[in-house]
Amino acid sequence: MKRIGFIGLGLMGEPMAINLVKAGYKVIAYDRNPERTEVLVQEGATAASGPREVAQASDVIITMLPNSPHVKEVVLGENGLIEGIRAGQYVVDMSSIAPLVAQEVAEALAEKGVTMLDAPVSGGVEKARAGTLAVMVGGTEEAFAAVKEILEVMAGSVTLVGPVGAGQTTKLVNQMIVASNIAIVAEAMTLGKKAGVDPERIFQAIRGGLAASQCLEDKAPRMFSGNFAPGFRISLHAKDLANVIETSQDLHVAIPLTTQVMQMMQALINDQHEDVDHGGLALFYEKMNSLSLKQES
Ligand code: NAD
Repeated sequence: MKRIGFIGLGLMGEPMAINLVKAGYKVIAYDRNPERTEVLVQEGATAASGPREVAQASDVIITMLPNSPHVKEVVLGENGLIEGIRAGQYVVDMSSIAPLVAQEVAEALAEKGVTMLDAPVSGGVEKARAGTLAVMVGGTEEAFAAVKEILEVMAGSVTLVGPVGAGQTTKLVNQMIVASNIAIVAEAMTLGKKAGVDPERIFQAIRGGLAASQCLEDKAPRMFSGNFAPGFRISLHAKDLANVIETSQDLHVAIPLTTQVMQMMQALINDQHEDVDHGGLALFYEKMNSLSLKQES
């Protein structure tokens, strides 16, 4: 399985697809933004004119798209993958989408003899570049074994968590933990600053203790530099939390913390911060408390 179709070449898809080219795979690339496809062609990939053509030219097809409607359109829509696929192929959706949509799309592909896995990722752009993403996979053992080698090119860890949809459920859990973690980092640093203690010194003092986390390590320095270039956009994280809230309503699960962070993200989006990194949750606290966490340089 040396020919890999790759659809969705944004912040994450581009470095992931480049790593596949570098590993020696023939990559057939498509993004609806032709400039994004051209970046991959410069790196050695072949351009396709749309999802149908990607399917015709590939053995395994990877999608890395914003949300559920984009995946449905690319797979099931007009000129979609479904028009070009053949039995025995694999589709690996690495986007973060609703678990129920992953199952729905997988069922439509199964009718054509094509196996789908959902394989969303965590780790952000830096880990996408380094090929060290954490990949959480939903699918059968057999399909997992067939595509694992390909996923390992992009990942530091690849874990089968259950049947189709289980990868997306795991990603929702991940996004809940990350959202609340970033928010509490911003909230706590705001209190520290208001109390007259330098937040950067607080960070140095606590980063080796129980409050240590990847979110603290990655996001606190962004808050101190005021650099919220994405990274992971607030709008995409709000999209994930919308999927979380929808799932929680279906299952009658009370999720007060996540719901509060969603409100903060909505306020930031209304303030035109939709494209800042999710570390920009600090901007909510800064506005509410009329202070800045940014360090004087
Ligand atoms: P992005 O917006 O940078 O990229 C998405 C790409 O998909 C764009 O280039 C866009 O043109 C393309 N696209 C959209 N609709 C299309 C269509 N119908 N046909 C072809 N191409 C289409 O987003 P991203 O940051 O790369 O994120 C992609 C997915 O990965 C999202 O589900 C996101 O939640 C998830 N994710 C992102 C990060 C991160 O740090 N950025 C981390 C983990 C997971």
